[in-house]
Order: sequence, then C-alpha cells, then structure tokens
Amino acid sequence: MLEFLFDMIFPHDACALCRMPGIFWSKKPWCRECDAKLRSGEETKVICDRCGKYLCDGGALCSGCREKEPPFYIARAVGPYESDHKVAVKILKFLCRRYVGIRMGEMMAQVVKNEPRYWPLDLVVPVPISAENMKRRGFNQSEVLAYYTSRDLKLKMASGVLARVKETPSQRELSKEEREQNLRAAFIVQQAHKVQGKNVLLVDDVYTTGSTVKECTLGLLEAGAKRVAVVTWATGRGF
Ligand SMILES: [Zn+2]
Ligand SMILES: [Zn+2]
Repeated sequence: MLEFLFDMIFPHDACALCRMPGIFWSKKPWCRECDAKLRSGEETKVICDRCGKYLCDGGALCSGCREKEPPFYIARAVGPYESDHKVAVKILKFLCRRYVGIRMGEMMAQVVKNEPRYWPLDLVVPVPISAENMKRRGFNQSEVLAYYTSRDLKLKMASGVLARVKETPSQRELSKEEREQNLRAAFIVQQAHKVQGKNVLLVDDVYTTGSTVKECTLGLLEAGAKRVAVVTWATGRGF
C-alpha cells in the first residue's frame, strides 16, 4: 500500500543513483547496473569476521574486535560506506525518499539469508533516532530499513523496543572514546518482554565505529534477549 503511494508521489523517470533516464519505481529505484554495483561489494570483500568492517589485508578480525570482543555475535552490511552506498543513504535520510528503503531492505535481507550464522532469528529491532531528528525528518530511516528487511525475512519487527533517552550532540566531532562515553545510557529497552529469550536482528543504516549498535546490543542482552545479530546497509573500513 505504502509502495503504491510512493509510486504516486514520486516521479521515477531516472535512476535514483546515476540519473540514467528510464522507468523506475519503488521496487526498482535504480538501474540494473547500479543495482549490480551495489551488490558487488559482497563478492570482492575481505571483511572482519565478527563486525563485517572492510579490511585492507587478510586477517580474521579488525583491530577493534581484537582489542575488545563486540557484544553482538555477528554484524554484516550490504557494502562499504562509500560512493553509491553512501549516496543511497543520503537519498533515504536527507532527501527523505523513503521508497528507496524498499530495495535497500531487500538487499539487507539477502545478506542475512546468505549468512547461515545469523540463524535462527525471531525478531527485528531498529536502532531508534533522537526525538529531535524524528521531529525534523518525520521518520526513522533505520525503522524503514528494518521494516523492509523483516518483511523479506518473514520476521516480526518490534519498533518500540529501544528508545533513545538522551540527546547526543553531533557524533561527528567527537573522538571514539568521547562517542562511547556519550552513548552510555543513551538507549533503554521499553518493552523487555518482547525480546526476552529471543534471537534479535538489530538494524541500522550505517556502521561506523559500531558504538551505537554495541550500546543497543548491550541493552537488549540486559533485557533478556538470547542473542543479538546486526545488519546495516553500509559499513566502514577497519584495519
Ligand atoms: Zn543507475
Ligand atoms: Zn571487527
């Protein structure tokens, strides 16, 4: 239903990424070449076995995961937070073109389907955004991605489980340590009964330092979740 509305509202006469003219709609927001390029990140990757960050050379784990084991058991992404993957996030988040989230969610679901270590899964939970961002943007991009990921995986989504309780100043200017400090107690679990004993798939748009999903994972585990896995649209590079 929502897709129908998206298709009514937005003219899709060009690829959302390379602007090649053609007929595009919510299920196919970009051209075949761009879609293939977005998916090719999966094939040529050398990634951290645990958090999924792209690595320059071999080695099973990135320096971050070697230093401290993350609380989630696996995190993966569709591609690196660069070029087209980055543009897609910006289209969704800042241009508020929610319809691109349909295909993005499908591609994230594919990553989960392709990795047996994700399974079993019971529930999909999106990372919440601040009330301030919610007011400004009108929607949570991670919830959009989580919704379409869960729909494709035939899993339930529980969007009210996590809440961001503390306003955080722009994360970008902070150092890694400051970010972690800043995120402490930034998330609470509101409906613990929904996650108790469950295998949770946590969904966010981008994995950079991982501190956001790590804090959310800790909250979910404290609330009684059995285990937490993470999938994001894009991820950073590690070493
Ligand atoms: Zn294109
Ligand atoms: Zn790692």
